[in-house]
Amino acid sequence: MSGGLFTGSCLCGGVCYQLEGDGVLIIGHCHCSLCRKASGAAFASFLMVLIADFAWTKGEQLMHKYESSEGIFRCHCGCCGSPLPLQDPHLSLMAVPAGSLNTDIPSLMHVETFTGDALSFLRTEQGSGLVSLLEEAPHLAFLSFPQRESKAYWLGFLDKVNTRRAQLGLDVFPADFLEQIAQRGDIG
Ligand SMILES: [Zn+2]
Ligand SMILES: [Zn+2]
Repeated sequence: MSGGLFTGSCLCGGVCYQLEGDGVLIIGHCHCSLCRKASGAAFASFLMVLIADFAWTKGEQLMHKYESSEGIFRCHCGCCGSPLPLQDPHLSLMAVPAGSLNTDIPSLMHVETFTGDALSFLRTEQGSGLVSLLEEAPHLAFLSFPQRESKAYWLGFLDKVNTRRAQLGLDVFPADFLEQIAQRGDIG
C-alpha cells in the first residue's frame, strides 16, 4: 500500500476516521459467526493497523459499542448502523472494516481465518470460495487458516506488528508475549 493518509466513514458520514497507508499490516477476511453477525455479510474483511496509525476525525461520540468478547468492543454508528473500526486492546490494534474505506482497497497480504466455519455456498474442495478467488489473483499474497487461534497465524502476524512498532519507535512485544498471544483463543 502506498503511503499517505486514507480515510473512511460510516454510511451516513457522521463518524469518520483516517489511517496511515504504510501502517496497514494485513487484510483479514474472517468467516467466524461473530464477524458474520456483526457485519451482516457472508464474511467480514478488515484492514489491520496499529492504534498509533489510526485516528477518529469526526463523530466518535455517535458510536455505539458492544463487547462481543472480553475487552473487544465492536462499534457501529448510532445513526446509520454501519460497522466501524474496532479496537483490540490486547495487541494495540484497530480492525478497520474494508467496506468503510473511502478509497480503494490496496493489494497486500491477505489472511483468511475460520474457513472451517465458512458458509457452505462459499466452500469448495480446496477450502472456501474466497480461497479459490484469491488463488486466481497471483498478485495477492494469501494465507488461509481454518481457525484463527492457529499458532502459525499469530506468530506470522505478530512479526508484522513488531516490525511496524519498531518503525514507529514503539517498544516491540517480547518473545514470551508472542507465545502467550499465540495460545489465545478466538477474540472475535
Ligand atoms: Zn453513520
Ligand atoms: Zn471473526
